[in-house]
Amino acid sequence: MPRAGIVTVAGKPNVGKSTLLNRIVGQKLSITSPKPQSTRDRIVGIHTTDNAQMVILDTPGLLNPKYPLQQAMRSTAVRALDEADVIIYLADATEGLPPSLSEAAELSAPPPAPVIVALNKSDALNSVRREELASHDGVVLISALTGDGVPDLMTRVARLLPESPFLYPEDEISTQPVRFFVAELVRETVLEQLHDEVPYSVAVQVEEYREGSSPLYIRAVIYVERESQKAIIVGGKGARIKSLGEAARKKIEALVGEKVYLDLWVKVLANWRKNPGSLSRFGYQLATGKGK
Ligand code: GDP
Ligand code: MG
Repeated sequence: MPRAGIVTVAGKPNVGKSTLLNRIVGQKLSITSPKPQSTRDRIVGIHTTDNAQMVILDTPGLLNPKYPLQQAMRSTAVRALDEADVIIYLADATEGLPPSLSEAAELSAPPPAPVIVALNKSDALNSVRREELASHDGVVLISALTGDGVPDLMTRVARLLPESPFLYPEDEISTQPVRFFVAELVRETVLEQLHDEVPYSVAVQVEEYREGSSPLYIRAVIYVERESQKAIIVGGKGARIKSLGEAARKKIEALVGEKVYLDLWVKVLANWRKNPGSLSRFGYQLATGKGK
């Protein structure tokens, strides 16, 4: 009997969850960024080996809710913990051993699934420190960046999965529609090219995806909160939006494997991050209670 189940990757922002997911799934799915909190949505990747299939959930950073967007992120993350068959609790090895997941995430009860503590960024440790951390029971040292230790981690995860037939066709890497990834790639490009306050005010929506057109026509809208931010994204004589569009188009072409015409717009949606209606429009689920 093969094994199959849900593997949730949890951890503080910036510990390398998205990098690990990309490495496991072998294709760029979840956006990575040196800026914390870049992953707002839960991303599903699928990793299938000869005898195991893992449906992988990436969690937005588990953090203290300060305003509605973060509450939405937190409740999504807590739900992903509840659904898991196995939890990979990822931490930054350069910060030493982390507090327990329940403590770090302020959960009122331990999560139902077994937790594997994976210490990432082991490439940034000296060998003495590496051996010291590796000597702790139940701790796996990995580097999502170089891939070191990742196969061992996958073996341990597979062993903990329940016996089950595969849940998805073997060649499927993701259950999320391509549109979603297209929007993520545009948002990632904005994070790369713009700094300071603007990136966190950005949401991207794909408004048209003309299946079968050649080149593939995609219209996407970058939403910001203020006119001043719109001016920055458009840039002098439209230079910034042009360069954003070019860079994003190349990434999208690599994802879909064909020529793309990216029609990119910028619109202001005042204070959307504080507005529950706008949050749900962009697919962020709001917390219903105070979480677990
Ligand atoms: P997330 O917020 O947990 O999803 O973290 P990301 O995957 O976006 O990574 C945050 C930063 O850590 C990025 O700059 C990554 O390049 C970096 N990073 C991730 N994994 C590793 C690793 O194994 N080694 C090192 N040195 N850096 C890493
Ligand atoms: Mg991330």
